[in-house]
Amino acid sequence: MRSLGDRTVDLLVIGGGIVGAGIARDAALRGLSVALVEQHDLASGTSSRPTRLIHGGLRYLELFDFGLVRSDMRERETLLRIAPHLVFPLAFLMPLYRRSPFYRLKLRVGMFLYDLLSLDKSLPKRRRLGRAETLAAEPNLDPDGLGGAWRFYDAQVPFVERLVVANALDAAAHGAVILNHARATGYLRDGGLVTGASVHDAIAGSAIEVRARFTVNATGPWLDQTLAPLRPGLPPLLRLTKGTHLVVPRATEHAHVLFATRDRRLFFVLPWNGYTIVGTTDTDYRGDPEAVEASAEDVDYLRAEAARAFPHASFERIHFTWSGVRALVREEGVAEGDVSRKHMLYDHRREGVDGVLSVVGGKITAYRSIAEEVTDLVARRLGSAARSRTSELPLPHAEDPAASTGDEALCPHAATTRADVERAVQGEWAITLGDVLLRRTATGLAACQGLDRIETIAELVGRLLGWDPAQRTAEIAAYRGEIAPMRRFSTP
Ligand SMILES: Cc1cc2nc3c(=O)[nH]c(=O)nc-3n(C[C@H](O)[C@H](O)[C@H](O)COP(=O)(O)OP(=O)(O)OC[C@H]3O[C@@H](n4cnc5c(N)ncnc54)[C@H](O)[C@@H]3O)c2cc1C
Repeated sequence: MRSLGDRTVDLLVIGGGIVGAGIARDAALRGLSVALVEQHDLASGTSSRPTRLIHGGLRYLELFDFGLVRSDMRERETLLRIAPHLVFPLAFLMPLYRRSPFYRLKLRVGMFLYDLLSLDKSLPKRRRLGRAETLAAEPNLDPDGLGGAWRFYDAQVPFVERLVVANALDAAAHGAVILNHARATGYLRDGGLVTGASVHDAIAGSAIEVRARFTVNATGPWLDQTLAPLRPGLPPLLRLTKGTHLVVPRATEHAHVLFATRDRRLFFVLPWNGYTIVGTTDTDYRGDPEAVEASAEDVDYLRAEAARAFPHASFERIHFTWSGVRALVREEGVAEGDVSRKHMLYDHRREGVDGVLSVVGGKITAYRSIAEEVTDLVARRLGSAARSRTSELPLPHAEDPAASTGDEALCPHAATTRADVERAVQGEWAITLGDVLLRRTATGLAACQGLDRIETIAELVGRLLGWDPAQRTAEIAAYRGEIAPMRRFSTP
């Protein structure tokens, strides 16, 4: 905080989700001086609540969004290359049941196009499996009326949180100042020009002014809230929809794309972290993004549809759930699922405010190219000719995954070690138990979410951060509070 108090940076990024972290990395790699402020923790917003796929999105073909599918598939290839330790190929099955010839033709055309739009991919091509082959691959599928399946490949980013942290680490390695638990509370203005933001540091309890030659607002579903001072009385830029996922004991061998019987929506059943994810829902959301959580209807819908597709598997036991808020470019008069997933850059010059740009919408899959597009624009404005290098340079630890070995795991449900916790606190901005457990190590994403060993873990983190017993107790309570929405439907 102090290092920012007496200088003007080239770029201030507000928001430490995947988009903000990606922009910070791109700009820092171009030699721009960068500060990023995040109100809670890196990846604590929507970026830690997705289906965790890096995909073109088969479904977007139905919306004739060929351009989006094509560019996302190109990004899928780039991410497999620059983050092979975080993004992995994933084989999907799309089971085929007796339906109309038109329906079968539609799927065949969809599969053909999905391959065509990623002709230069490294992943295997689609293949049509017969009934016996499908059941051998996935014995839990409902055999009644099953004709076979399409098998195709996409990619998964099981731990998106680390993708965000990796971007922030690389940004910092190139000079960026990363401040988490630091909320932008207002804009600094010089007439019609935004010259930075006032920022409140929640940990120190202090406020500073971060002066910047250009400011980018990458606050995801909080965008309309954070833009309120700049756009008083103007219509919102976003349409928000909620999506819920269930995490259950491992129920299938493969990843599956399925159609819900209740409303014909597409949903996924995916292997993840030794468990199975079922998701997602898509319903308009008007609440505070901070307060999003699964409802009983979401859980019943997902559980019933998964159980129907896999009658021999059990979806009764739930380890935990997560819900996220999609920030979509505002579009009215269409169903939630039909709103385009394209992003938009919103230049506030059109409203007479200069020096600031907002990112509206955008998938994780596209984050790197969105960051490049934003930084191209910022660099032009700042008179820099430096070009993006993020599609070529691997992310930190791509070549030497930072997995610790030979150290005892801290919790029986996760491989996290003492060294992982030390690195999180000493080198990756982790300040709370939630930061360490949910967004630096995957302990909080294991069945017990670290609660089985919470005293031991809090002792270790507290020793590194100088917590006294009272603060340790308070930090444990805060962590329990943070994961309470995820555990509302947990069954023992
Ligand atoms: C249910 C669901 C499923 C999805 N599945 C996929 C998928 O499988 N694949 C895919 O590619 N995409 C998927 N997405 C989309 C993807 O998750 C989002 O597009 C992406 O995470 C958005 O990142 P972001 O950085 O824009 O937003 P966020 O991650 O929300 O980051 C914004 C950050 O800004 C911070 N912030 C807000 N206000 C302030 C302030 N005043 N000062 C400082 N910081 C502030 C917030 O705390 C937050 O961390 C899914 C989304 C949802 C909801």
